[in-house]
Amino acid sequence: MSAPAPRDYASAPQHVSALYEENHRRQTLAFVRAQKARFGTLDRARLSAWEALERLDQLADQSDPDTELSQLQHALQTAESIRLAGLPEWLVLTGLVHDLGKMLCLFGEPQWAVVGDTFPVGCSFSNAVVFPEAFASNPDAREPAYGSPTGIYTPGIGLEQVHMSFGHDEYLHRVLRDRLPQEALYVIRYHSFYAQHQHGAYDHLLDEHDRELMQWVRLFQPHDLYSKADAAADAESLRPRYQELLEDHLPGQLEW
Ligand code: FE
Ligand code: FE
Repeated sequence: MSAPAPRDYASAPQHVSALYEENHRRQTLAFVRAQKARFGTLDRARLSAWEALERLDQLADQSDPDTELSQLQHALQTAESIRLAGLPEWLVLTGLVHDLGKMLCLFGEPQWAVVGDTFPVGCSFSNAVVFPEAFASNPDAREPAYGSPTGIYTPGIGLEQVHMSFGHDEYLHRVLRDRLPQEALYVIRYHSFYAQHQHGAYDHLLDEHDRELMQWVRLFQPHDLYSKADAAADAESLRPRYQELLEDHLPGQLEW
């Protein structure tokens, strides 16, 4: 049986398009600011990275048209794919943890506010974002200050200053801030920004630092995507290697 082409949204199940419709309608600049304040407190749980991986094992990502794999299987497959490609150990670690921000779902957040491709808010929405027609129902689309390609920003301002739609990328970046090298944090923060890393959209908001680090996101991306083979990674056999990797590089409890 052959697998469908990755990220084939044209034939995506209805729950995928419904998720994106709600995401594009409700991710406004005001929503993003409110979520950052709400989840920036990091006072909801104290869990090690491995404990978080095990908790997420029950969750299936509703935005993903490609797989029904559990999150633990996806984490292990992504890490293994990066390791087998001979890439640096910090990127293997990044692969293992990159989706842990989906803990938001376990705190009661709906999937539209957690998963799916991300995009800047506070400026006009690009057609390079998946399901762009759904942005017509976002109130920010009628706000003149946000209506130009730069919107509230200045050209070349750098993504650090740009508000992205809120979800697991931005949240995990906050959880792991100070715990991982900047390249790893950057991959985590922008791994769902497909409009940029695959299509070059929003280039005018990037600075030199972004252009340098975005290369790591592009290097990471195929391992996130194309490692979603339906043959589930054998979690039991991979567990010791990756538990050790986390003990070496991300020991102890994290604040969620
Ligand atoms: Fe992700
Ligand atoms: Fe992923």
